[in-house]
Amino acid sequence: MARLVMKFGGTSVADIDRIRNVARHVKREVDAGHEVAVVVSAMSGVTNQLVAWCEAALSERRLFDAREYDAVLATGEDVTAGLLAITLQDMDVNARSWQGWQLPILTSNAHASARILDVNGAELIRRFTERKEVAVIAGFQGLHKETGRITTLGRGGSDTSAVAVAAAIHADRCDIYTDVDGVYTTDPRVVPRARRLDRIAFEEMLELASLGAKVLQVRSVELGMVHNVRIFVRSSFDPPESIDPHRNPPGTLICDEDEIMEKQTVTGIAFSRDEAQISIREVQDKPGVAAAIFGPLAEANINVDMIVQNVTSDGKTTDLTFTVPATDYQRALDVITRAKDAIGYRRLDSATDVAKISVIGIGMRSHAGVAAQAFRALAERTVNIRAITTSEIKFSLLIDAAFTELAVRTLHSLYGLDKATA
Ligand code: ASP
Ligand code: MG
Repeated sequence: MARLVMKFGGTSVADIDRIRNVARHVKREVDAGHEVAVVVSAMSGVTNQLVAWCEAALSERRLFDAREYDAVLATGEDVTAGLLAITLQDMDVNARSWQGWQLPILTSNAHASARILDVNGAELIRRFTERKEVAVIAGFQGLHKETGRITTLGRGGSDTSAVAVAAAIHADRCDIYTDVDGVYTTDPRVVPRARRLDRIAFEEMLELASLGAKVLQVRSVELGMVHNVRIFVRSSFDPPESIDPHRNPPGTLICDEDEIMEKQTVTGIAFSRDEAQISIREVQDKPGVAAAIFGPLAEANINVDMIVQNVTSDGKTTDLTFTVPATDYQRALDVITRAKDAIGYRRLDSATDVAKISVIGIGMRSHAGVAAQAFRALAERTVNIRAITTSEIKFSLLIDAAFTELAVRTLHSLYGLDKATA
């Protein structure tokens, strides 16, 4: 017997037929003797519709009252939780739905992107043991304790709900059922020879997710890492009855690195074309300049990613390059131009047709020269590297966007990630 959390996203609960399919997945695990808490998203498209209604209700140029925005958005998950409970009962599975405030799932006050602070799993555990009751929990929502208002966790937040519930009920595993059957070494649409990973360490997944692999909300991985919740990404489209609940189905386990026997040097490659590069030429090389540049950018809520500064050659001026998300590019330029007097520079150069390629692997900690191999391989294909940053388990390269696919494929083969051809 195991205790499981099963999380189903919007496409898996898109209509009543699919909800019934989800119920069959749940029944399979219950029949196998497991204790189950299910976490559901809103039916696909519903949250977008709710957002659109909020926007339509507001005159232009006015801001949402975030508390009401959350009151509206949370309802999408309420509907699916109730419907799945009905469907399970219809299959003679004992089930009860729970909204976030009923457990409760307590969160911070940051409406629309609240953080989970505490989940009370006691009542769920009592019902597992006393009534063999399945808990069906509305994802994405919580309760702010002081104000008693409903909060939501940010788009994609039911992944995070699921991991938080798993931690609270001490689940053996948190299964994330989704429309892909696991985490891949890179995007299979770009590299057809991308492989599904059997296991990936929390830290690696955190990098992959932050860098744009959209399998899981980043915060859910953070939470899994903190509470050591084993997260298993698997497909919700496999026929429920074809799966043996006692064996390992296909999917990717996100776990502590101690559970990974064979540590690959490189586990995955992420890339993003939504980057822009800004270079500030001939800035004064004196204390306070970086602060004068990055202070105003931070105040404008612009996330700066790669930062590269040259060592001065004349002792007076230097060049400084950094990247920002493409969506913030114009605002970043405005901020820097406005701060020109405070910074003191000669010229701004910038580019939006750039891409960031990141190579990730915990094995890099114990292997030297991993990045050097990449530089050589890309040089052979005459891909120019504009900027490089490195950290313990990853390095990122900024290149011309036109070479994205070539670079990703080259590195994917270079590090032995290609799947064997059949
Ligand atoms: N329904 C919410 C959204 O679309 C939360 C989720 O699906 O994870 O963002
Ligand atoms: Mg999702």
